[in-house]
Amino acid sequence: MGAPDTMTQVPFNKPYMTGKELWYIAQAHASGHLAGDGAFTRRCSEWLERRVGSQKALLTHSCTAALEMAALLADIQPGDEVIMPSFTFVSTANAFVLRGGVPVFVDIRPDTLNIDEGLIEQAITPRTRAIVPVHYAGVGCEMDAIMDIARRHNVLVIEDAAQGLMSSYKGRALGSIGDLATVSFHETKNIISGEGGALLVNRRQDEERAEIIREKGTNRALFFRGQVDKYTWVDLGSSYLPGELVAAFLWAQMEEANTITERRLALWERYHVAFADAEARGKLRRPIVPDSCRHNAHMYYLLLPDLRRRTALIEALKERGIQAVFHYVPLHSAPMGSRGRATGDLRRTADASDSLVRLPLWLGLEEQQDKVVEQVLQLL
Ligand SMILES: *Cc1c(COP(=O)(O)O)cnc(C)c1O
Repeated sequence: MGAPDTMTQVPFNKPYMTGKELWYIAQAHASGHLAGDGAFTRRCSEWLERRVGSQKALLTHSCTAALEMAALLADIQPGDEVIMPSFTFVSTANAFVLRGGVPVFVDIRPDTLNIDEGLIEQAITPRTRAIVPVHYAGVGCEMDAIMDIARRHNVLVIEDAAQGLMSSYKGRALGSIGDLATVSFHETKNIISGEGGALLVNRRQDEERAEIIREKGTNRALFFRGQVDKYTWVDLGSSYLPGELVAAFLWAQMEEANTITERRLALWERYHVAFADAEARGKLRRPIVPDSCRHNAHMYYLLLPDLRRRTALIEALKERGIQAVFHYVPLHSAPMGSRGRATGDLRRTADASDSLVRLPLWLGLEEQQDKVVEQVLQLL
């Protein structure tokens, strides 16, 4: 009898549990080590370093925290500019605005909805300090072009790979290409710990300082390794490391990362095949994954012809118990957008924001996916 959304039979997201999470949490509990940087944190960081091929992985309590650490490592000063898409989550910008930085918003490519690398160079000024490519839907940005621009202008590249774990670009894992990268283990991502994230450090010279920033600006890690004889305040920093219980949960997920990715890819493919005809008839556009990219099926979205039809589809699906959602109010048009600077008209960003609808994609959807496909096709 309730409001339509209390009758939702197919939620947009449902966190997947492997079944081992509580077992590992019990082990952490029994070990008596509850603060961060215990055995599970070490396992998770080493897994990330191996898997992504990063110099160093540091667990954080969110991707947002990892982005804030990146802004500190990049020494962002008031007035410094950071180039990024406007079509992204708020944390991409907020982390730099917190340091007085100015996000400079660049439009996206029509195919992947990632930052248009062809528009980056004209957005660079003497104040530019970093470029932050966001790998939307786990599909890689044009990293070769972006790294080339960054090297020529001597600016850092910080990959927002929140959605990009287990994806690659030209055979290189997302998160391993930029100077720094951040990932998320939020419950809406593929590999989860409720809240959680990591900073990936790809330059040796940033390793030590990254540890210090994560440990409240102290050289605690160096002290415990016997590399300094006093443990003291040496830099800016905050408390960015998660406790062991969170790392224990995350370890259960990392062990299953391949299976989780394969099952998500199967769900993604099923949608993709199911909507091929509708695309051919001009009813919608499906996601485009360039040949250079292997993706992780983080998201399945459709692009409808306009805002009216997109909104109508979401509403009608809701009435049928299926939760589909739109994605991003562009940052430049948000109330805080005036803290940044838009370059060009950001037309494609506005178009994507108006026309995009994300469909449910979670492990366990298998039994209900036909219903989702059927309803979408009917409503088109
Ligand atoms: C999810 C997400 C974030 C934030 O991740 P948290 O772990 O929730 O802080 C940042 N950027 C992008 C692109 C995201 O998708």
